Amino acid sequence: MRFPLPLTLKIARTILGRRLRGTDHFATVLQLEPLHACNLACPGCGRIREYAASVKEMMPLQDCLAAAAECDAPMVSLCGGEPLLYPRVAELVSGLRAQGRIVYLCTNALLMRQKLGETLAERWRRDPAQTDGLVDLLVSEDLLSAADAETIRHPRAQPAPPVIESTRWFFWNIHLDGLETSHDRSVKRQGVFREAVQAIRMAKLLGFQVATNTTVYQETDMAEIEDLFVFLGSLGVDGHTLSPGYGFAEARRSEDEFLTRQAVVKKFRCVEDWGRRYPLFGTPVYLEFLAGKRELACSAWAIPTRNVRGWRGPCYLIADAHYASYAEMLAATDWGRFASRQDSRCEHCMVHCGFEPTASLGIGARRGDLLKNIWFQFGPRPRVKLHPVHAYNSDSASRELP
Ligand code: SF4
Ligand code: SF4
Repeated sequence: MRFPLPLTLKIARTILGRRLRGTDHFATVLQLEPLHACNLACPGCGRIREYAASVKEMMPLQDCLAAAAECDAPMVSLCGGEPLLYPRVAELVSGLRAQGRIVYLCTNALLMRQKLGETLAERWRRDPAQTDGLVDLLVSEDLLSAADAETIRHPRAQPAPPVIESTRWFFWNIHLDGLETSHDRSVKRQGVFREAVQAIRMAKLLGFQVATNTTVYQETDMAEIEDLFVFLGSLGVDGHTLSPGYGFAEARRSEDEFLTRQAVVKKFRCVEDWGRRYPLFGTPVYLEFLAGKRELACSAWAIPTRNVRGWRGPCYLIADAHYASYAEMLAATDWGRFASRQDSRCEHCMVHCGFEPTASLGIGARRGDLLKNIWFQFGPRPRVKLHPVHAYNSDSASRELP
């Protein structure tokens, strides 16, 4: 299976329950942005520009948990900004878990090893004998410094901070837009790709589930993205999401950087094949849409965004207003207009958060779609055929697969 069975069943149960109650519009994934501060300044990022005036603000923990409870989405994607800068991120994750939700933590990975070190320290406190060998292994793999290992083995007396623990209900979701040169260029800082790879390796050794998300831009080389999937397969990454970048005004770096519909279809003509060969998350119906084989309506109401200013409407990309509640946003928005993309800003949009829910909820489904989606999800997980990839391609230190 591509995605753990209990998580799939939880999502299916939620959808079925809403359908049986006759609810037209409901949340399947909440995109929760507890803050917009970030330790990077990627040129393609709309958030750090749109919310520059409120970049120092954060949602109180109780507002984050209340937002999740209000929309009652089975899955919460913690994003931002960089959510690992949120001081109470571990409490937020455990609070969402206590509500029974699946949690994805979307990160650029720069602070991830620090957080994983806290998890390791907590494990050592609980069971030093069981954890000691892992600490040694991480040091030998150059994923933990000897000094940090020493600190873990000699914890200070004060109460330990809350930590993020590995559970089947939690995924690290790391943003990677290419191999080393391309990714570092896309985030405008050298070394970010290498750090992300180290963080992935450490997370896997600590038993975490790890996914990645990739945005495809005009300049993206799709052959390189395929190499990226092979490389990530060698690291044991559990799955990937892929979406075309979309040039909402605040994020636009240049007029030709984001993709038109025609350009998306051209770029993604390989994507159905990738769905068979790599553990892409989502549905084959959305992949057919990206490959230009069918039309889908937009269902942005299913993946709402909540941030410091409220519920962003109508969608992750367009902010016509921020509402006090999800219910208010649902009531105030003309969803028919956005579903059929009558709004000119939607013209070229094919993004994951607008159209994947349409595919997964079976809206406008054709005969055979349900079976296709079930087979994609419940059939055997693709085995990635590994081959050497020059992932570290920025300088003379180029290396092959670890
Ligand atoms: S890491 Fe994410 S939130 Fe931070 S600047 Fe880049 S795209 Fe924006
Ligand atoms: S098509 Fe949907 S997701 Fe895309 S910009 Fe329009 S409302 Fe937003």
